[in-house]
Amino acid sequence: MKKKIISIICVAIIVCSLLVFAVSCKTQDEPITTYKIWLDIQEDNTVECSQKVDIVNDYGAPLEELKFNVYANAFDKRKPLPCAQEEQGDFYPDGISYGAFELKEVYGDIAHYDFDFESNILTVSLHSPLQAGEKISVDMQYTITLPHTNGRYGFNEKGISLTGFYPMLCAFVDGKWYYDEYSPIGDPYFSDAANYQVTFNLPNGWDYVSSGKSKQGEENGETIITAKAKNIRDFALILSPTLKKSVSKYDGVELSYLGEKTDTLTYMQKSLAVYGKLFGKYAYDTLAVADMPFVAGGMEYGTLCVINETLGGATYEEVVAHEIAHQWWYGAVGSNNLINAWQDEGLTSYATYLYFVNVGNVDYSSLMLSDAYSQFHRFIDIQNSVGESAKGVLGGRLNDFPSNYYYTNITYNKSLIMWKYLQDTLGKDTLLKALKEYYATYKFKIASPDNLYACLDNAQSNASGLMKTWVANV
Ligand SMILES: [Zn+2]
Repeated sequence: MKKKIISIICVAIIVCSLLVFAVSCKTQDEPITTYKIWLDIQEDNTVECSQKVDIVNDYGAPLEELKFNVYANAFDKRKPLPCAQEEQGDFYPDGISYGAFELKEVYGDIAHYDFDFESNILTVSLHSPLQAGEKISVDMQYTITLPHTNGRYGFNEKGISLTGFYPMLCAFVDGKWYYDEYSPIGDPYFSDAANYQVTFNLPNGWDYVSSGKSKQGEENGETIITAKAKNIRDFALILSPTLKKSVSKYDGVELSYLGEKTDTLTYMQKSLAVYGKLFGKYAYDTLAVADMPFVAGGMEYGTLCVINETLGGATYEEVVAHEIAHQWWYGAVGSNNLINAWQDEGLTSYATYLYFVNVGNVDYSSLMLSDAYSQFHRFIDIQNSVGESAKGVLGGRLNDFPSNYYYTNITYNKSLIMWKYLQDTLGKDTLLKALKEYYATYKFKIASPDNLYACLDNAQSNASGLMKTWVANV
């Protein structure tokens, strides 16, 4: 029965491809790239996938080839483990488990394709360069085998996390596709915003949250869900056989929560209210949170956040507020987290600090700051004591950070201290003026550090000089 869904989908894809090819380069129906993905989730933790990507060249330069990053391939047993050594026990609580990505076919109006197992990059060559404004469709079929893990992607006793599971177009930065080897440190996903339509079968008795708005239907006795989202950074889907979904609405935004806590929907509303007021209105019409076993505190995806289910109290609220702040800084305003993780993480940490100030829990906002100061200074002391002075430079390749500990202290703690320093020096109003412009100007785009500096300078001349000193400090 499940196979049948896929075969119907395949016929539909081929027909659609022919139609799209017939009119491609002539019409501009879709303003931006759109992914259509069909998932057949099997009981053995494999997923049969069909994917159609309607790519619009809105990059401002001709494209000779397309590059997709296949993050799921990083979990293959022939690769290094996709987690830092010190977190291996939490990442694989029941022992090491591998995933697999099996590419079956890539087709469409393409010259050829090549999947490089080492780099996880699928390169699709075109017959002729795709000019600015033109459109092309690429179809592919693949099977993923999910690893058993408490990481971002895979399954565990609470359910299935489908994030970064599909071949995702690399971000296009400064005239080329940007990618790096999969990093166990930091957040490895980096992409341009796109539209999504994802259809999947919901196993009997399970519940889910996903990016975007979803509709439920039935086909051959199975529950079929279709979720649609516009201009999101990436698509995520969390499914659980035990957790239940609760929903609410706030200021036109549909909120959904998969988990067992009672205050999460309230924290979600508060976050939308605070950040909307400080930075500009939330860019989407849905927001979802799922509590899952998770190796870190939480993780952000397009209009969806995963929170470590073991957290409680104000720490839980902090992580919810942090991940939702990422919907402004990561989701809407993208930045190159593979080399400038401080850009969204630091700003997100500062936004979380402002969240607690604005909801009246000033004690907790002070605690966040004092924690950042004490942890960062302890980190510096430890580095000095072992004769390896810490470099304070904020940027750098994720893979070049020596440890999660080092990465966290630089990317989160030092960055938060920097933002608080800027607030104290420039004044909160000036800073928020700059951030409002940053949000309005770079929403659905990828902002460079220079773009951020320019917004600071627009708010107060030479303000960026202060930040640059912190960023470059060695
Ligand atoms: Zn974060």
